[in-house]
Amino acid sequence: MSTKRCYYETLEVERNADDTKLKSAFRKLAMKWHPDRNPGDAQSEVRFKEINEAYEVLKDSDKRAAYDRFGHAAFEQGGMGNGHGFGAGFASSFSDIFEDLFGMAGQRRSGGRERGADLRYNMEITLEEAYLGKTAQIEIPVSVTCESCSGIGAKAGSKPKTCSMCGGAGRVRQAQGFFTLERTCPGCQGRGQMIEDACSSCSGSGRVARERTLSVNIPQGVEDGTRIRLAGEGEAGVRGGPPGDLYIFLSLAGHPFFQRDGADLHCRVPISMVTAALGGEFEVPTIDKGKTKVKIPAGTQSARRFRIASKGMPVLRSRQMGDMYVQVMVETPQNLTKRQQELLAEFEKLSSGTTQPEATGFFAKVKDFFGKSAAN
Ligand SMILES: [Zn+2]
Ligand SMILES: [Zn+2]
Repeated sequence: MSTKRCYYETLEVERNADDTKLKSAFRKLAMKWHPDRNPGDAQSEVRFKEINEAYEVLKDSDKRAAYDRFGHAAFEQGGMGNGHGFGAGFASSFSDIFEDLFGMAGQRRSGGRERGADLRYNMEITLEEAYLGKTAQIEIPVSVTCESCSGIGAKAGSKPKTCSMCGGAGRVRQAQGFFTLERTCPGCQGRGQMIEDACSSCSGSGRVARERTLSVNIPQGVEDGTRIRLAGEGEAGVRGGPPGDLYIFLSLAGHPFFQRDGADLHCRVPISMVTAALGGEFEVPTIDKGKTKVKIPAGTQSARRFRIASKGMPVLRSRQMGDMYVQVMVETPQNLTKRQQELLAEFEKLSSGTTQPEATGFFAKVKDFFGKSAAN
């Protein structure tokens, strides 16, 4: 039914491993496979997800018990053969369904905890910054756990009271015909506790708004659309739940004369008709703010490309460098003086078929084309 790896295998622990062992195994593996440590490696992202998922289940004794009994089927769409469908976001919906199925009300330990929301931060960087890499300081508005009440929401010195509606169970029973239904307690929203004296810093929500400065490491050679994940830097969780993640979406600003193609850089340089005909040398700027010489042979045609090795962008997480391509565009002279016009006209008179091989070849083909058409 499922080809997923066993959660215990994923975390490389014995089936009877205790919480301490689980936690240290998780930490070790999470550090190793963290996407920030292995940017651009799809395999480690998959591993990291698996490790998280396995730990998310095994650290919770209820979920672990269900997994031990039913395997992965315990958490899959339509699992347990009862038609209860729950897809994405099982982590939050699971406990409710679990309680419905097994009548485990009152053993709910989460106390209404919720994971904080993920945040997205859009950052535009220049091509030069992508070339050099950088450490960016970003200010993000986040809601963090309230310090005055440690996220509980109750005023200092006062304690949340046990909910009178459900007696602290977080669930209430309701008779409906032959059945007794259990519901999340409407008095306390499942927390099992009521806050009478709300904390004045957070008005009882347990979270406060803050600006946080984070430093983000942008590696050399990042591409447009690169996503950097900062685990645990998103919104604070609700009532002591874990924080969400922060995702930084990088976009690259356009450059005045370089176009990027993977690790290669392209630029177009206009050259004079005379330089193209006689050959010559000119300097072009490079992305590292230096200059490099391009030598062009006599008789260079427009649009010809010259490759300058290793003057492109760094390849992400490697020592390799892309190349730079310089495409020359031969510029037709304009605004000629009388004298210049005379010289060019004289030049034209002296020109034979050998100075214009392309044109000679082309007009020969045209002649040939009309000759054939006439024959048909
Ligand atoms: Zn209640
Ligand atoms: Zn507070």
